[in-house]
Amino acid sequence: MAESVGGAIQAPVPVPRAVEPARPAQGAVTAHGTLAVYEPGSGKLVGEVRVSTAAQVREATAAARGAQKGWAQKSFGERRQVLGRFQQLVLDRADDIAELIVRENGKTRNEALFMEVLPVADLTHYFARKAERLLRDERVPLHMFPHKKSYLRFYPRGVIGIISPWNYPFSIPAGDVVMALMAGNGVVLKPSEFTPLIAERLRALLEEAGVPRGLVQVVQGKGDVGAELIRSGVNMIVFTGSVATGRKVNVAAAEQMIPCVLELGGKDPAIVFPDADLDTAALKLSWGAFANSGQTCASVERVYVHESIAPQLTEKIVKLAQGLRQGEPNSYDTDVGAMTTQMQVDIVKRHLDDARAKGARVLTGGEVKVYPDGGRFVQPTVLTGVTHEMAIMRDETFGPMLPIMTFRSDDEAVRLANDSPYGLSAYVFTRDRNKADRIANQLLAGTVMHNDALYTHAAPETPWGGVKASGLGRVHGKHGLRDLCEMRHVNLERFDFPAFWFYPYSAKAYRLGRRVYGTLIGTTLGARLRALLGR
Ligand code: NDP
Repeated sequence: MAESVGGAIQAPVPVPRAVEPARPAQGAVTAHGTLAVYEPGSGKLVGEVRVSTAAQVREATAAARGAQKGWAQKSFGERRQVLGRFQQLVLDRADDIAELIVRENGKTRNEALFMEVLPVADLTHYFARKAERLLRDERVPLHMFPHKKSYLRFYPRGVIGIISPWNYPFSIPAGDVVMALMAGNGVVLKPSEFTPLIAERLRALLEEAGVPRGLVQVVQGKGDVGAELIRSGVNMIVFTGSVATGRKVNVAAAEQMIPCVLELGGKDPAIVFPDADLDTAALKLSWGAFANSGQTCASVERVYVHESIAPQLTEKIVKLAQGLRQGEPNSYDTDVGAMTTQMQVDIVKRHLDDARAKGARVLTGGEVKVYPDGGRFVQPTVLTGVTHEMAIMRDETFGPMLPIMTFRSDDEAVRLANDSPYGLSAYVFTRDRNKADRIANQLLAGTVMHNDALYTHAAPETPWGGVKASGLGRVHGKHGLRDLCEMRHVNLERFDFPAFWFYPYSAKAYRLGRRVYGTLIGTTLGARLRALLGR
C-alpha cells in the first residue's frame, strides 16, 4: 500500500493578543496560586481556578463529613429525588456542559455529548432508581447452622475521596460522585490540574439540584493536592489515572488503612477473525482507536488480524482514517479533536518515532502539529509492520494510533493479546458467537466486548475495571456501588440450639462433636434431615 497522509489538520483560529503576557505552562500553578486552563485546540484562555492549600483540603473533608451525617439519614427516595433533578439539569444544560468539556479537554462536540454528558444523565437515572435494590440486605443462607440467619448490610462509608483524570473530565468523576451520593456518602473531588473547571460546574449543578451544601466538595491542584486528600481523613479513595500514580495512591491509602479502587491504564487489544464483518470491524476499530484522539483508557491500542483478511481490513481502516476531519474541536462536523496535553503529544511522538526507527510502516497519518499560539493535534495514524519489541505495542500510547499485526492461529492471537502487563478491555470481532464466547474466556481483561469497542463504560449496570496492572476493584454496576459502602455482616438467631462446642470441654463432648459435626460436613441438608429422622 502506498505511503500517504490522512485528512488535513485545519489550522486553529489565531488568538489575538495585544500584549504577550508571560503565560504559565499548561497545568502549572501561577504566581498568584491559580491553575490556568487553555483550550487544547486553540490555546485560548478558558479560565482559572484557585489551588487549594493542605489546610483547605482537610477542611473540605471535615465539611463533607459534617454534611454526610444528615445525608446518610435520608431515605433512598429522598436521595433519588435530588439526583433525579440533577439528571434533568444535565439534560437541560447538555449543550453548555458539552461546550465546557470541549474547551477544557479538546475532544469533539459529538464526543463530549455522546461519551460524557448523556452517559452521566443515564447513569444518574439508573443508580437513582436502582441503588435501593442493589444495596438492600442480602441474605446469606447458612448450610451448616440452620438455627441462625446471616445478612450482608451495606452502610455508607462516610466521605469518599475521588481523584480523576483529564481524558473524561465530566463522565468519570460525575459517575463516581453520583454513585457515592446514592450510597449515602459525602464526596471530596480532586479533578486533574488540566481540567478543573468542569468539576466546579459539576458541583454547582449538584447543589442546584438540591444536594446539601458542603456534601460535595471540590479541591483543586496538582498531584500534591491529591496526595493530601488521601491523608485528609477520607474513608475511601476512588482513583482513575495512570498506573504509575495508581501505585503511589495504593501505598498512600494503605498507610491510612483505607480502601481504594484503582482504575488505571490499558493497552487494549482487538482480535479480528477471518469470518468477521470487515466493514463493521473497520468502523468500530477506527472509532475505538481515534475517538477522543485516542485518549481513552479502553482505546483500541493494538489490532491483531488474521493474515488471510489483513490486506482488506487494513485498506478499509486506512480509507476511513483518511476521511476523518480533524480540527476545531467545537465544530459539530469535526471527527477528531485536539490532544489535551503537551505531555501526551510527546509520548505519542516518542512511540511513533520508536516504531518508525524499528521498521514500522505508517500507512496514513503520522503527522504531529503543535502550533506556537496553542493548539496541538496528532493525525489519525495507521501502522503495519509493528512488533512487540516496539513501545507502540507495549506501553500505553494514549493517542490516535492504530497499529496492526497479523496472526495465523487462534492460539497465537490469544497469546499476543495477553502478552501485556495491562488488562483493561479486549475486543473480539467474529460472526461466530460461540467462538467469541470461547475466546473471551481466554482473554485476560476486565471487560471483553464482541464486535464492539469502548462503549460499556456507558452501560452503568456493567462493572468497569481492569485486571493485572490495569487496576483494582470496579466502578459501575452492583459491585462498584457496593464497594462504595462498608459491608457489614449481621448474624441473627432463629432458634436456640444446644451446641457441644461450649464450656466445659470434655472427652465426651469431643467424641460427640467429632461424630456429629464430622458426619454433617459434606452432606446435604436433605440427607441430614433424613439421617435425623432415621429414613
Ligand atoms: P495521572 O495518574 O497523571 O493523574 C490522575 C489524577 O491523579 C490527577 O488528578 C492527578 O493530578 C492526580 N495525582 C497525581 N499524582 C498524585 C499523587 N501522588 N497522589 C494522588 N493523586 C495524584 O493520570 P492522567 O490524568 O494523565 O490520566 C490518564 C491516565 O488515566 C491514563 O493512563 C488512562 O489510561 C487512565 N484512565 C483510566 C481509566 C479507567 O477507567 N481504567 C479511565 C480514564 C483514564 P494532576 O493531574 O493534577 O497531576
